[in-house]
Amino acid sequence: MYCQVYFAATTHEFGLRAFDLVVVGGGISGVFTSYFALLRGMNVALVELGHLGSGSSGRSAGIHTEQLILPIDIELSRRSREIYQEVAPLGFFRTGFLSVEPSWMSSYSAQILKGAGTRFRVLSYDELRSYIEWALVRDDEVGILTPDDGVVNVPHVLETMRRRLLGLGAVIFENSTISYLSLGDGRITLTNGSCEETLSFSNLVLAAGAWNRSISERWLDYRPPVAIYACQLMLMKTSVELGATPVYFEDSHIYIRGVGKSFVLVGNGRVVRLDDPSKCPARPEPEYLLEMSEKLAQRLRHPEGYFPSGGWTGVCSSSADGMPIVGRLPGLENVYIVDALDGYGIMRAPALAQDLAAYVADGKASEALKTFDPSRFGGVCSEPDKIIELHSMP
Ligand SMILES: Cc1cc2nc3c(=O)[nH]c(=O)nc-3n(C[C@H](O)[C@H](O)[C@H](O)COP(=O)(O)OP(=O)(O)OC[C@H]3O[C@@H](n4cnc5c(N)ncnc54)[C@H](O)[C@@H]3O)c2cc1C
Repeated sequence: MYCQVYFAATTHEFGLRAFDLVVVGGGISGVFTSYFALLRGMNVALVELGHLGSGSSGRSAGIHTEQLILPIDIELSRRSREIYQEVAPLGFFRTGFLSVEPSWMSSYSAQILKGAGTRFRVLSYDELRSYIEWALVRDDEVGILTPDDGVVNVPHVLETMRRRLLGLGAVIFENSTISYLSLGDGRITLTNGSCEETLSFSNLVLAAGAWNRSISERWLDYRPPVAIYACQLMLMKTSVELGATPVYFEDSHIYIRGVGKSFVLVGNGRVVRLDDPSKCPARPEPEYLLEMSEKLAQRLRHPEGYFPSGGWTGVCSSSADGMPIVGRLPGLENVYIVDALDGYGIMRAPALAQDLAAYVADGKASEALKTFDPSRFGGVCSEPDKIIELHSMP
């Protein structure tokens, strides 16, 4: 309602408005890119098809950990955590993160974490058993606990960021479809119901996650080299108290997170490849729910106390090397993209957004952006055959 009135008023009374930056996509990437661009003095319009967080961000499990393989990813995760803690402190709960793995593997994990400067503690078999009393632990297993990790309350973060963006002078267009986009004249036309507004822009950032592909193919004649897939989560009802720390079981790739007092979220990164994000099934596949229940039953002390209670899905995108694609689109001066954040976007996006805003503002690419440059695939649209799972330690 507000948006429609706003559209009509701006179109008829003020005419064309000019922005230094138009950001397309109001998930965690687009919101933080807008924020950091505003801090750099740019005037910004943020365009979202639905509402903020209506894509993958609002469907994530919110797990935030430094227990990752690559140093560059660990650094992104740490910086993102610091950003959440600074700009939306109530949106980050410090819960720690616990990985349950065979003891022979723990020295590799410890080496990676030590090298990255991550605080961690190795829990012996006995300590592990008392830390997660609800779980079955094998006597050859230990735990790696990273106490600074946590869980992000994404809806809270996005609402906090909405207030911050508006306070810094951003214009947010929600429920808005792109009906025209031309780089030649630097114009974008947005439609909301029967209202329409055309904006002019100097720079454009595509931060529409799995939808970047359809937008850039239609308007920019560019196909990002990504695979699109549905990521699934199972929800279980229980009266067992799991504690706040998300737990990852290395052998089955299952992660478990207690939600409130009576629900647990369970995932394992199993994905369903999609051609088109709009074809994402709303609910997890029945086979997935069955597989999760079976795997989980082997890890729970009282499996009879947990009841499958549905779940949900969301769309993600992944590149051929499993790394994000962030930077300027090949051959285009003023168009940038954030894509292929995979199932790790909550941990990766704020730090990448900070780097991208700096790049748009002054042309200097951070080490991360040099690594994630879209042109690294040599202009070849090499869509990955396989979705690479980067979470688990080697
Ligand atoms: C089930 C599930 C669990 C996950 N769990 C975790 C986790 O625990 N930890 C973690 O780090 N990551 C997790 N992820 C991954 C994480 O959610 C994503 O990597 C991250 O949200 C991507 O953010 P984004 O802003 O790039 O994309 P999105 O959040 O998808 O945002 C893109 C936005 O663009 C909008 N859009 C689409 N088309 C248009 C258009 N034409 N015009 C304007 N806007 C448009 C969409 O509506 C959407 O809001 C999970 C993902 C899923 C699906």
